Amino acid sequence: MLAVEEARRRILDAVRPLEPRDCLVGDAQGGVLAVDLFAPHPLPRFDNSAMDGYAVRAGDVAVASEGAPVELEVMGEIRAGDPGELEVVKGTAVRIMTGAPVPAGADGIVPVEDTTEESGRVRIVRPTAPGRHVRPAGDDLAEGDALVRAGSELGPGELALLASMGYSPLPMRPGPKVAVLVTGDELVAPEATAGPGQIRDSNSVAIQALVTESGGEVVPFGGVADTAEAVTEALGRAADTSDLVVSSGGVSVGRYDFVKNAVEKLGHIDLWRVAMQPGKPVVLGAVGDTPFLGLPGNPVSIHIGFEQFVRPAIRKMRGCRDLLRPTMKATLTEAIEKVPGRLHFVRVRLSSDTDGWRATPTGAQGSHVQSSLVDCHGVARFERDATVLEPGSQVVVEVWRLPGDDV
Ligand code: AMP
Ligand code: MG
Repeated sequence: MLAVEEARRRILDAVRPLEPRDCLVGDAQGGVLAVDLFAPHPLPRFDNSAMDGYAVRAGDVAVASEGAPVELEVMGEIRAGDPGELEVVKGTAVRIMTGAPVPAGADGIVPVEDTTEESGRVRIVRPTAPGRHVRPAGDDLAEGDALVRAGSELGPGELALLASMGYSPLPMRPGPKVAVLVTGDELVAPEATAGPGQIRDSNSVAIQALVTESGGEVVPFGGVADTAEAVTEALGRAADTSDLVVSSGGVSVGRYDFVKNAVEKLGHIDLWRVAMQPGKPVVLGAVGDTPFLGLPGNPVSIHIGFEQFVRPAIRKMRGCRDLLRPTMKATLTEAIEKVPGRLHFVRVRLSSDTDGWRATPTGAQGSHVQSSLVDCHGVARFERDATVLEPGSQVVVEVWRLPGDDV
């Protein structure tokens, strides 16, 4: 049996980052930047005022006080957006608004609260100092400083900085188109009435949500009948219209498991038994040039297999720097047991208090137990050769989301 890490390494070797495309910065949220970007100019670009007030020569107002205000002649006004071409000479001031360029000659700002203005003269009741309330050019970043690295996912902070620097459009790697193909004659749509022996197709819904959450673009294919012809035809079409094909079911050794043969016919295939629970059988192949990942049909196996293999593959195709979920140590709240030989991914709920994080198994852990995925924050690794974990032991949790996170 293959170790999970080795199976993942082979899968990641089989996929490549997609070609970048230009994207306006306003449309780039959640996308992945394809190149390292550096500051084309300082930020701020020019010395500007941090307050509404008066730009002055600090030396002129050094002795200003409530009892003995200093009076200066107001030479004009600079608003945010003005070029700021006025000059402050001895005995004068310029009215200035927050964000406006500090005029030549001035070296400090007196906040409007410390002033009164009348008939073109301003009375100043408190001194300022050189540089006070001035945001100097380059205070944030100097020209040439690193801004955002290739492989970063762009959130509000990164997007705003790149917008400030005029980086629009941006070279972004797109999310791969992922064809989602489920097999099984027992399946009916979630909206349908399930007859005797039939079940509703939950894997399509699960995989589509997982693809979207991983930054891929779903190409839905829906259910495919358990016949060699239907599977072969659907696989061919899926590969033609996508960057990655993911299937559920039909990779076991049952009489109606046609996926293996169909992939083999259209490309090539490796079938592995991976030392993990749930989700032991995993298929890596290609249909034509399109990589193919086949997961077993059980609803929990789908989820775990997706997390371990498909999500990192999608993230590699998107050009992400970090391919794997973050991990944390947490204190297990209940005893768990297993037989040795496979790494178990125990679905857990996380909670925290002043002592740190606690992980509580979500109940029964069979590969058909869908309720174990409700209010589930991730999986605790129950390592391959371990057999017992006592309450209070430290476990490594692969975090899917934290309580309070957006989903
Ligand atoms: P298979 O890998 O095709 O043998 O499927 C294993 C188990 O997963 C069977 O109990 C199937 O009924 C179930 N299963 C397969 N596909 C789906 C699906 N799309 N939605 C929900 N359950 C499924
Ligand atoms: Mg099946």
